[in-house]
Amino acid sequence: MSGCRVNVDAPEVAIREIRIGSITGFEGTAGQLVQCARAGKLRENKRTFSQCMGCSSGNAFCQLSMIQDAAMVNHAPVGCAGDFFAFNFVYRVGQMERKLPPVMGRYFSTNIEEKDTIFGAVQKLEATIREAYARVKPKAIFVTTSCASGIIGDDVESVTDRLSEELGIPVVACFCEGFKSKIWTTGFDSAYHAIVRKIVKPPRRKTNKINIINFWGSDVFTDLLGPLGYEPEYIVPFSTVEKLEHIAEAAATIQICPTLGSYLGAALEQVYGVPEIKAPLAYGLAGTDAWLRELGKVLGKAAEVESIIAAEKEKILPQLEAYRAKLQGKSAYVTAGAAHGHALLALLRELGLQVQGAAIFHHDPVYDNGDPRSDMLAHTVKTYGDIPNYNVCNKQAFELVNILHRVRPDLLIARHGGMTLWGAKLGIPTLLIGDEHLGFGYQGLLRYAERILETLDNREFVTNLAKHSTMPYTRWWLDQDPYTFLGGCAHGNVD
Ligand code: SF4
Repeated sequence: MSGCRVNVDAPEVAIREIRIGSITGFEGTAGQLVQCARAGKLRENKRTFSQCMGCSSGNAFCQLSMIQDAAMVNHAPVGCAGDFFAFNFVYRVGQMERKLPPVMGRYFSTNIEEKDTIFGAVQKLEATIREAYARVKPKAIFVTTSCASGIIGDDVESVTDRLSEELGIPVVACFCEGFKSKIWTTGFDSAYHAIVRKIVKPPRRKTNKINIINFWGSDVFTDLLGPLGYEPEYIVPFSTVEKLEHIAEAAATIQICPTLGSYLGAALEQVYGVPEIKAPLAYGLAGTDAWLRELGKVLGKAAEVESIIAAEKEKILPQLEAYRAKLQGKSAYVTAGAAHGHALLALLRELGLQVQGAAIFHHDPVYDNGDPRSDMLAHTVKTYGDIPNYNVCNKQAFELVNILHRVRPDLLIARHGGMTLWGAKLGIPTLLIGDEHLGFGYQGLLRYAERILETLDNREFVTNLAKHSTMPYTRWWLDQDPYTFLGGCAHGNVD
């Protein structure tokens, strides 16, 4: 399967199911999943019961809502704004970490009501955009759409085009209706499509900046890129409209997770010729070696990179061996989004843990660049061997609890807040790391190992919690096959 051709003339980007064949249901081993995807035989195992779903609109919002001088208009019923507070919380915490002035998120809702679904809501949209502009004077306004605005067929693009002219700033439509895709990471693509179409300007010159497509992780790239003569440009959260206008001038683009930045990396390369680093992620020794060598090749700094690899490895290997000895015989289970989850599997194997399985929120058989070197799961399986109990599971807690109840790992690693309680309720020490850069590179192995050991040392808390917790799932369910509702013969995916 190849990647996608980016078309910035189209108002919307196709959803991931159509564009790159992504799925949300699979059960087998990681190796079987990789083999299926490579053979072009991946198919969705549809769940006959589903407990919850994410929403593309939320993922689009998570990228656009922390641009420092932009405002957001969510063209939706007010219920879709229920997670505004969470984004504002992350925004405020990130401001403190980055020593930015404290500012509230500038988020507005058009509050589509029942009568608007009959008569249309474009007048409300226009009024809300004007109100947002009058109140906070943003440098750009992003309009995120919703199921309701999509179903009633509001012509959002003509409103945003008209208001752009009237207000003299980019007013940009981002089409991310939740009902259109089961893969909520489609919302990242919608946000990036909006940025590349309407914000990014053609390059005036090349700079020494390197785009880092990330969420809100700590700054680990200044130290890494500085010796090579480059500076990180973290995008999109905590960027500014002006900085985003010039990301096509960067020397390269780095993904901290291709599940996040797949579309933006490919779009910048295809539309503006900014090379994307196409390699396994820098998690674990082999991944970091491969990633750094590709970076060196793209930047024309191969010799310097070889020196960095040798020096850094020499520095960390004794401590790594010490951590491996401490972690020997320990087992772990991972629940996380796709590529970052694959990277955590590599990292755990590198630290010598036995990985008992993973519940990963979706699977992209290919990324938008179409390059198999970016397939972190394939790299992990090839480097460290197969991983059993690999479940593609879009946060279905009933499956996760059933599996955890069976495998009883020493440690649960969870990437998303709502998932940690399930391990804790079962008395399993559970580690959540919000900083997605913590495990990056050689030093990241040591940082992560330290956090794992702290978590394993603090077992008493979850032991007590489990004693006083109840589970919503009955004995009947825990005795069933965890994949009972996963659409028939899940292994039919693999020859
Ligand atoms: S856009 Fe649709 S799926 Fe998303 S929060 Fe609103 S109603 Fe729910």
